[in-house]
This record gives sequence, C-alpha cells and structure tokens, in this order.
Amino acid sequence: MKIGVLALQGDFEAHRRRLEELGAEVVLVKKPEQLHEVDGLIIPGGESGTFLNLLGTEGFEKLKQFVRLKPTFGTCAGAILLATEVENPKQKGLGAIDIAIRRNAYGRQRDSSIREGKLALHNNLVDSPLEMVFIRAPKIERVGPLVEVIATEGADPVAVRQGKIMAATFHPELSTDSRIHQAFLDLVRAGEDLPG
Ligand code: GLN
Repeated sequence: MKIGVLALQGDFEAHRRRLEELGAEVVLVKKPEQLHEVDGLIIPGGESGTFLNLLGTEGFEKLKQFVRLKPTFGTCAGAILLATEVENPKQKGLGAIDIAIRRNAYGRQRDSSIREGKLALHNNLVDSPLEMVFIRAPKIERVGPLVEVIATEGADPVAVRQGKIMAATFHPELSTDSRIHQAFLDLVRAGEDLPG
C-alpha cells in the first residue's frame, strides 16, 4: 500500500513523517503521473489558491479523476480543494465531498490556535478529546446528508468523511496524536469496497 502526499507546497513533510511512523510507504507526489503509483492521497495544508495555480488545468483534471476513484484526505487548504462549495472568496474545487467551506473563517484572534476538540470515530463508543492545530483555518458551514462528522470543535464539524474522502479543517500532522492518520490508512485499506 503506497500513500501519496501532494508535495507542490505546504506542510507535506509533516504528513510524510506521521504516515511513516504508522508504517506506511510514502510517495511525495510532485507530478500528476505519480498519481498512478499510489493507493491513496493526502492533500496538505498551504494556500488553496496557490495549489490551483500550481496544479494548472491538466493537474487539476488528473487530480479530479483520482479523487473519484481513490481514498483522499485533505487537511485545511486540502479540505478546501475537496469541497463542493467554497466561499470567501468563491473558488473552484474538486467537488469530492458534499460540504460548503468558508476560507479564513475565524477572526484574527482565533485565526491560528491550538484547541481541544472531540474525535468521534465510528469504532469508538464515546467521543474522546483530540488536540487540534488550526492555522488560518476554514470553517465547514454545511455538511451534506451523506457526510459523516468524525470530529468537532465546539459546535463546529472539523473533520468529515464521505465514502473514500476525508477532510479536516485543522492540521493533524502537527500534533503527535496519530488517530486521524490511522483512520485514513484504514480507509485506504478498505479501499475499493467503499462507495464514491
Ligand atoms: N487559509 C488557507 C486557504 O484559504 C488555508 C490555510 C491552511 O491550509 N493552513 O487556502
């Protein structure tokens, strides 16, 4: 099982470290052709508009095909790229998970912070506390009927899943807790059996 981390910009190295700690084989994806080599992909944080520019039309289309077929996890800017609806400002997305997301949605004072939220993975009976690092974070403002909320902070959904796609508005790669990455590896392992 090979996991790709999109390595155009942003904090891809931290994701690589987390995944390798969990025993995954990691490929840093710098060219669209490398998507053929991987069974799942992480789109890291960074700046979502810059990602779109760096991908270009061809890269964007290849990525769009990939996310239809293979498990993909987007964190922060990556979550913005995966969403069906992007606000503030409006921006095109891959439309892979039925959420509306608002960029830079927290005011200045809270725009970057470490907070304690709750993890509610389906195999846990009770919610458990989870450290969450937010950096100029977006906010998930609507979740579609097929979207499962897997983590919350206050009243906000901050990690969600729909079929093969996971998205988080925080940066799990910057905390030592590896449960979110493990959940993604489990999703990749379940792979092809999951609905789009
Ligand atoms: N504010 C960034 C954006 O709108 C996301 C920030 C992040 O990825 N840490 O794309």
